[in-house]
Amino acid sequence: MKNYLTATISAAAVQHNLTALRQRIAPQVKLCPVVKDNCYGHNLKLLYPILAQHADGFIVASPSEALEIRDYGYTGFILCLLSAYFDETDIQEELIRQQITQTVMSKNALQTIAATAQRIQHTAPIHLKIDSGMGRLGVAAHQANALFNLIDQTPCVHLTGAYTHFATSDDPDPTYLHQQLTTFLNTLPKNRALIRHAANTAALIHQPQSHLDLVRPGLSVYGCHYAEHLRPHLDLQPCMSVHAQIIAIKKMPAGSFSGYGRTHQYQHDSRVAVVPIGYGDGYFRALSNRALVHIHGQPAPVCGRVSMDQMTVDITHIPQTQVGDSVEVISNRADAPNSIENLARLANTIPYEITCHMGRNLRHQLID
Ligand SMILES: *Cc1c(COP(=O)(O)O)cnc(C)c1O
Repeated sequence: MKNYLTATISAAAVQHNLTALRQRIAPQVKLCPVVKDNCYGHNLKLLYPILAQHADGFIVASPSEALEIRDYGYTGFILCLLSAYFDETDIQEELIRQQITQTVMSKNALQTIAATAQRIQHTAPIHLKIDSGMGRLGVAAHQANALFNLIDQTPCVHLTGAYTHFATSDDPDPTYLHQQLTTFLNTLPKNRALIRHAANTAALIHQPQSHLDLVRPGLSVYGCHYAEHLRPHLDLQPCMSVHAQIIAIKKMPAGSFSGYGRTHQYQHDSRVAVVPIGYGDGYFRALSNRALVHIHGQPAPVCGRVSMDQMTVDITHIPQTQVGDSVEVISNRADAPNSIENLARLANTIPYEITCHMGRNLRHQLID
């Protein structure tokens, strides 16, 4: 962790987002934030108290994240999208002891979980994942019925839910999503009380019929939209801003260059600040010569290639700038040129990738 790089996380923004999402769903629908990969890089430990206050449960990817939430004292519903694999028998036991709901997507997974549960004399809560057209994890829709039957005959497992995941939820054309939803619902056994769920953020916002019994928003909880065109549909507040401090300032004569490959040449005598953040900290190299930061509220362009742990910005037009001054690398204003969504667009990626990478080296602090 680098103490000189700060990610400031706004509790009020997360609260605002959860309230906005809650208003989109019917009162009986459960709201379970997805907190995988350390809350998409926003820091699970910091956000846990706010999330626990507003959520009906948590969705995690890995067993360690589920166990972390239990360590914080959470006794409610936690669903693990992945599970304990291969030689992780201790972890498998712990998941069952702590009554963490695991995903079953195959006969193999079912038998592993059941064998462990039997060994420790517990019952394992499970959800069945059905592949309705994502082509990733999940039992194929036409094999789901057989797996449902097998689950019924298997001791020590308790099936409480079934879910699927959409491949195209952010596509303005919902045809494929509707097909997936129909496929999913058709695989479910009749007359059974199962928690059925499918919706991620985009489906939650645009496809109310996909809400079913529980929704699984991730990115929106942290205030980002997948793409700019979705922004008008729900008012979200990005919860993270990232700041660094200038570590050096130098004069660069007209005609000189900055950085690897000499990709930026100064046209005039310039004043340049060195900012100690780079691609090793999650500030993408693809942002070289493209992105802006803010210093004293003014935009300063990134000049030359972003290195592993530093980069250079042109501050000629901000003469009061000094060593030690604060640099807003990522803004929490959605319309700022250095918002997460805009940086994702400039780096030709998605906001998810920006925030996940940004999580690693930064010191996180919670405000309001
Ligand atoms: C990550 C994930 C989500 C959340 O997706 P967002 O687009 O961030 O809302 C929901 N469901 C599953 C299965 C996921 O893997």
